[in-house]
Amino acid sequence: MAIIGIDLGTTNSLAAVWKEDKSVLIPNVFGEYLTPSVVHIDQNGEIIVGKIAKEKLITEPENTMASFKRDMGTDKVYTLRNREFTPTDLSSFVLRKLKEDAEQYLQEEIEEAIISVPAYFNDNQRSATKLAGRLAGLKVERIINEPSAAALYTQMQNKQEECRYLVVDFGGGTLDISVVDIFDDVIEIVAVAGDNHLGGDDFDTLLMETFIEKNRLEIKKLTKQERQSIRKEAERAKIAFSKEKEVQMNAFIGGMERTLSITEKEFINLGKDLFIRMQEPIDKALQDSQFSLEEIDEVIMVGGSSHMPSVVNYVHYILKKEPKISANPDEVVALGVGTYAGIKERFEAVKDILITDICPFTLGVGIVDEYSDELKMSPVIERNSTLPVSREQMFNTIMPGQTRVKIFICQGEHRYVKDNTVLGIMEFNVPCSKDSIQYILVRFTYDINGILVVDAKICSTGEIINKCIVGKNTTMNEEEITARVKELEELKLHPRKRDKNRLILAKIERIFEENVGEIRKFADYLIDYYNAVLDTQDAKRIAWVNHRMEYILELFETEPANRVIFEVRKYMHDEGMVE
Ligand code: AMP
Repeated sequence: MAIIGIDLGTTNSLAAVWKEDKSVLIPNVFGEYLTPSVVHIDQNGEIIVGKIAKEKLITEPENTMASFKRDMGTDKVYTLRNREFTPTDLSSFVLRKLKEDAEQYLQEEIEEAIISVPAYFNDNQRSATKLAGRLAGLKVERIINEPSAAALYTQMQNKQEECRYLVVDFGGGTLDISVVDIFDDVIEIVAVAGDNHLGGDDFDTLLMETFIEKNRLEIKKLTKQERQSIRKEAERAKIAFSKEKEVQMNAFIGGMERTLSITEKEFINLGKDLFIRMQEPIDKALQDSQFSLEEIDEVIMVGGSSHMPSVVNYVHYILKKEPKISANPDEVVALGVGTYAGIKERFEAVKDILITDICPFTLGVGIVDEYSDELKMSPVIERNSTLPVSREQMFNTIMPGQTRVKIFICQGEHRYVKDNTVLGIMEFNVPCSKDSIQYILVRFTYDINGILVVDAKICSTGEIINKCIVGKNTTMNEEEITARVKELEELKLHPRKRDKNRLILAKIERIFEENVGEIRKFADYLIDYYNAVLDTQDAKRIAWVNHRMEYILELFETEPANRVIFEVRKYMHDEGMVE
C-alpha cells in the first residue's frame, strides 16, 4: 500500500507519491496539482475543498474558510453553517480531499501519509497536523520540515556528491531559510531560521490597503464579499507584476467600479519593509550554520512567492549570488515529501539516503530569577541540535518546605519566558522536607517529527512525571479521536464527479456578485442557461457545454469583463449554444 507525501500549505496543498523510481505529483479532479487549501460547507452540509471553495470565498464567505493553517495548534474555532470547526478539523478536510484524489489516481486505498510543516512550527502546531491526518483517516508517523523536503528534492535533481545549499522557501504565509550540507547520500540540515508571519500574502495585503486608501474607501464599511474581491484583485495584480511593469486593479464597491493603477516601482517601494524583513532569517541561518557566504555553493528558491521577480532580485542583492529558481517552485516541497515517502517505503533508488534534521528553536524551562520577578528561560535543547535529541538538566525547588512545583516549558530564543512561547506547564507535588530543597531532573526528548516529550524525575523519591507537550485542542485521547472522526464523517465530501459542473457554476456566480450592470445581467443569464443544461441530465450535452463554458470563463479571467460580453455572445452563437 502506497504512502503519500503531502505538502499541506497555507494557500495550496499538494500530494505526491514515489512511483517508478521518482516522486510524482498526484492530480486532482481538474487534472491540476495545486488544490487551494480552502474549505466550504454547502447548503446540503457537504464539504467542498479546493478551487470551488475558493470561488465561494467571495460569494459565500460566511460558509467558507481559508488560511486556517495560520491558526493550527491554537484554540481558534470557526463557525461554518452553524457548526464549529477547529483549524485541525478544516485541515483534515483538505487531507481527506487529497487522500481521495490519491486513491483515484493510484486506484488503491491510502492509509498512510507523511506531511510537511514549516520548520518553525512548534509542538502544538505539529501535533495538530498529525491529528488532522488521523481525523482524515490517515496514519501520520512522520512529519517533515518543508525546507528539508525542498532540500531533499533539490539534491535528488542535482545529484551532487558534495554541495552546500542555502534554500529560501518563500510561501504564502511563511519564509523558511535552511542551510543544507550534502555529502554522499547524507543530507544534513545544518541550520534553519524563518519568519512565521512573512509571506506572499503580505504583499496582497499591502496592495489591498493601498487600493482602499487611494479609492478613499473605509475598510469597516466594506462587506466581507467586497473585501474578498479586493484581496483577489490584489493577488492577481501581484502575480501580474511577474510580466508587466504597470498593473491595474478593478473592483466593484458599493455598485461602483473602482480602479487603481500601480507601477512595479511603486509596488517595490510599498513592499520595502517586507523585503528588509527577509534579511534577518537569512543572516541568522548563515550565522548558525557557521558557514560564510563564500562557502555556500548554491542559493535555491522555492515556494509560490519565488515567482516574484522583485523577491528574487532582492535575494540576489543581499546574497550577492544569483539564486536558482526551481522550474516548479510551488511543487518542490511536495515532491520532496513524495521522495521521503519513497525512502520510508525503502525503495531501492532512495533507500540509502539519510536525511538529518534539526530542532529549529531552543527549548527550555522557565526558572525563577534571583534578580527580577520575571521567569527566566533556562535552555535545555539549544536550537539547531540534530534530531532526535534528548537532554536533561537538574532544577531545584526555591525553598525548603515547598510542596508544589510548576515547570514552564518554553520555546524561543529570548531571555525571559514572557517573550517566548510557553508550550505547556507541568505542575506536581514534591515531598515536603522542612530543612532541605528538592531536586528535579528534567529531561526533554525531541523526536524526529519535532514532537517534544518532557519527563521530570523527583530525585528524592524516584517518581517520574511525564508529559507530551501538546496544546489544548491538539490533545485528544483515542476515545475522543474516534468520536470526532465519527462526527466529521457525517459531513461527506462533495461527490467528485460533480466537481467540474460545480466549479463552473461557482465561477459564474462569483462573476455575478463581483459585477454590476450589463455584466451582472449577462452572468445571470449564464447561470440560468447553465442550470437548464444541468437539469437535462444529459451527460453528453453537459460535457459539450462544460467545454465551452470553460473557454468563456477563461475569457472572463483574462480580459476585462466589459470587453468580454460581446466576444462571448458571438462565441455562444457560433457554437450553437444560443439561437
Ligand atoms: P505557497 O505557500 O508556496 O503555495 O505560495 C503561495 C504564495 O505564492 C501566495 O501568496 C501566492 O499569491 C504566491 N504566488 C503563487 N504564484 C505566484 C506568481 N506567479 N507570482 C507571484 N506570487 C505567486
